[in-house]
Amino acid sequence: MDLDFACTMCGKCCHDLRLPLTVTEAVVWLERGNDVQILCDAAPWLEEPPADNIQAAHRRRRSFAALSGSLPARVVVILAGAFAGPCPNLQPDMRCGIYEQRPLVCRIYPAEINPFIELTPAHKACPPEAWTPGLPPLRRGGKLADAGMLSLIQQSRDTDAREVPVKQRVCALLGIDRAAVWNEGFAAYSPDRAGLLAALRQAGSEPAAPAQPPAWGFVSNRRKTVDTLMSVGALGSLAPATGTAGFEYLGFFEASE
Ligand code: SF4
Ligand code: SF4
Repeated sequence: MDLDFACTMCGKCCHDLRLPLTVTEAVVWLERGNDVQILCDAAPWLEEPPADNIQAAHRRRRSFAALSGSLPARVVVILAGAFAGPCPNLQPDMRCGIYEQRPLVCRIYPAEINPFIELTPAHKACPPEAWTPGLPPLRRGGKLADAGMLSLIQQSRDTDAREVPVKQRVCALLGIDRAAVWNEGFAAYSPDRAGLLAALRQAGSEPAAPAQPPAWGFVSNRRKTVDTLMSVGALGSLAPATGTAGFEYLGFFEASE
């Protein structure tokens, strides 16, 4: 379906977010006195997928190798500007207070960065009038019509891949070593600002990955998932109560014992 779009500046997409940030953006976000969380998920990775498995290739590009017990895995780490209510940069008139320096992800919205998620107006915060036919073309023939937007999305994907070793090092420096299972949720860490800023700066200047895959554990709020992982040699544990393990478990599913 073709789509036309123009932002109405309603500000709805600037509320209650975990906003994915690049490493450079996360440093600036913290320097402005705002909070950054570290979201981790991991997937078992028994063997390299065939070259035509583009979804696996996408995950591989943005993840690092780890070992969970004896099970190979790949861990994705996301830095996220986290806020409840309005973004700390949102002005009372719903304008972005850092418009010229706003994060890449804000420049791309409402288009999708993940190539496997279709752009669907019903899944976006934008009001119906933002999608009125006759506005500037956003999608034509199943593809984004705006070359500038396409370039930003490519820039986002490239940066995501390039920064993997830095994020791996940040986790090592902060002792972060547990992740939710891919497609089940995230383990969300909230390090103090000064500590995270120092770790990002150090990791950015020494991004060397360790010689051996680091040890990571899986967490899940579903007993069956934990048992399955442990049966194949992984380190698995039930998600602990919030506040007891240094991270919050953000599950996509109901907990089951
Ligand atoms: S940085 Fe600006 S555009 Fe991005 S969420 Fe905040 S107010 Fe909105
Ligand atoms: S929700 Fe959509 S229309 Fe509203 S400010 Fe964000 S991008 Fe613009």
